[in-house]
Parts: sequence; C-alpha cells; structure tokens
Amino acid sequence: SADIVSACSLDSPPTSAAAPPAEGTAEKASGKVGVILPDTTSSTRYELYDAPLLTQALGDAGIEADVQNAQGDKNKFASIAQNMIGQGVDVLIIDSIDAASGAGVEQEAAAAGVDVIDYDRVNLGGTAPYYVSFDNEDVGRLQAQTLVDCLEAQDIEKPKIIMMNGGTDVDNNAVLFQKGAHSVLDPLADAGDIEIVAEATVKGWDVENAAPAFDQALTSAGGDVQGVVAANDDIANAVNGVLKNRGLDGHVVLTGQDASVEGLQNIITGKQSMTIFKDVTLEATAASQLAIALIQGTDPADAGMTLAPFEDPEAPDHDLQALLLPAQVITQANVQDIIDAGALDLDELCAGI
Ligand code: BGC
Repeated sequence: SADIVSACSLDSPPTSAAAPPAEGTAEKASGKVGVILPDTTSSTRYELYDAPLLTQALGDAGIEADVQNAQGDKNKFASIAQNMIGQGVDVLIIDSIDAASGAGVEQEAAAAGVDVIDYDRVNLGGTAPYYVSFDNEDVGRLQAQTLVDCLEAQDIEKPKIIMMNGGTDVDNNAVLFQKGAHSVLDPLADAGDIEIVAEATVKGWDVENAAPAFDQALTSAGGDVQGVVAANDDIANAVNGVLKNRGLDGHVVLTGQDASVEGLQNIITGKQSMTIFKDVTLEATAASQLAIALIQGTDPADAGMTLAPFEDPEAPDHDLQALLLPAQVITQANVQDIIDAGALDLDELCAGI
C-alpha cells in the first residue's frame, strides 16, 4: 500500500541507532551495577531497547555493568540478584517480575548494604529509594484517547470496544494503564457514546494467554467489535491473529505500546492504529544517573534531575522518589519520530516488509 511505501521509503538518510554521547569534561564515575530485566516474552522491548541502552548508559558513565534477564522465572531473578550481590555490585537496578519478589530482592540487597533502584516497574511494599519509569497512567489515557479519535474519524456510531489489559495481577504499570484508559472511556460509555462490550486481563503479562482471552472476549461480544485497547504491541499482535481468523484484521481500531518492530510494521501496514513510544534511552540514562548518585552519596538534584515523591500505598513509610518520563503517541503519521529519536534505524524498522 501507499502507506508502506511512504513509511518505509522515508526520505531520510539512515541514522545510527544511538546518538553519540555528548562530549563532556565531567569526570567519569566508577563502580559496579547489576541490572535484572524480567523476561523476553511479554515484550520485545527488553532485548530491543532496555538491555543495550542500559549497558550503554552505564558504560558511558564509567560504570561496570552486568545486565541480565530472568526469563520470566522468579527463582532465576532471585539467584541472579544473589550472584550480583556476591560479586560486589554497588547498586542493583531491577525491573521485577512481580512486586512481592522484587521487594524480596530489595531485602536481600539491603542486608548486604546494596541499594536498589526500581526500574520501569515499581515494587509496592518494597524499600527502594528511587523509581524511574514513564507516566504510566498517561500511557493508558493516550491509548484510549487515540482509539476514540480514530473511531470518531471513521464516523462509527456507538462503537463497541474490548479492553485487553496487561498483567494487572503482577505489575502496577498494568494497573495504571488500565486506570488511565478507563478515565477516558468510562465517561463516554456513561454518556452512551461508546460501549465497552468486554474486558479481559492477560494475567502475568503471559502473552500466550492473550489470543485465547481475546477470542473469548470477542465471542462473548458476538464477534462485533470496532475498537480494541491492547495494553502493548505484543498483546495487539495476538489480537490481530484472532481478528485475522475472522477476517477482521485491519478493520478494527487497535492500540499498542512499546514501539516494537512488529507493532510499528503493523502500524505501517494498517493493522494497528497506534503504539506508545517510551524513549528508553532517557529511562536508561536516568537509571544510570540515579545509580551514580547512590554510589557517590549525592543528591540526584545536583545532577539536574527532578524527582517527586511517589506514594506507596502498601508501605506508607516507604520513602520513594520517582522520575516519571513522558510517553509519546505514534501513528502512521509520525513513525518517522522513532527514527528521528534514534530508537531504530530505517533498516530495522522496515526489515522484512
Ligand atoms: C512495561 C511495558 C511492557 C509490559 C510487558 C510493563 O511494565 O512498562 O512497556 O510492555 O510491562 O512487559
């Protein structure tokens, strides 16, 4: 289609994936930091963006970095943490599988005098002093608002919508995505302008469950749907598989998140309406700067960072400071922004299409 042509023959020279670090005269930090990511299946982001960008951000700052992935296994997560603590890391940066196991790692670390930074997912009930993520409630709002705008542009009267939430049972982010989306959709549903015909949860962010859960939701809705709020690109992709079986792919407004290659390609080919771009370069850099502040015992404000208190309802005494970054909507109209931000280059974006 013309869309593929326009998006995949973007008239710009391929840029390298990462902007070169600014030449500074600032002294390099030193120290050792361990990073543990949750899995490789709930989103491609961890291998595509987080692992390389954290390695780079920490390395550029002069920190010795050990970046590992727990492959969705909480025991493995805990043993990686134990090994890193045993090897003398100064700080752990963790993106946990669930908050309880993440808080467990924080306790072990604290016992060894190692500070922990909650990365992307907060460990409610934990003890980490810092949390770096995006404005996750806004992610949900942006998903729902873009969905509503697309439906309106198509002049569909009282569209039927299915919500496919992520792992709200394990991840506070998923709870916030859902909350943000409802804050946009519920008033419209109350006014009779839209109808939420089904809502399902992909428990544990286990994407294998996404297609069966959506199939069931769609069946319960009599196969009649015009819009789907999918929590991320991987869930959107599973939704698309089910829609395809019913001849509906490309005919339903569908959201996503993470700017995965597959998600962006589905946007280019008209099978997904939007994704959320979270600039992980900024997230990784912030985590690295916070680690350095902990190592050096300095206030992150001295490094120009603006943190705000983050309330932990499960541990009212938990003194947690958060840096929440803004998220961006990507549609067919601005896929170029992904390339301009240096997140992907054109070859990566267009590989295979
Ligand atoms: C992250 C999302 C990701 C999801 C599944 C969330 O905590 O913020 O970017 O899609 O987990 O891995």
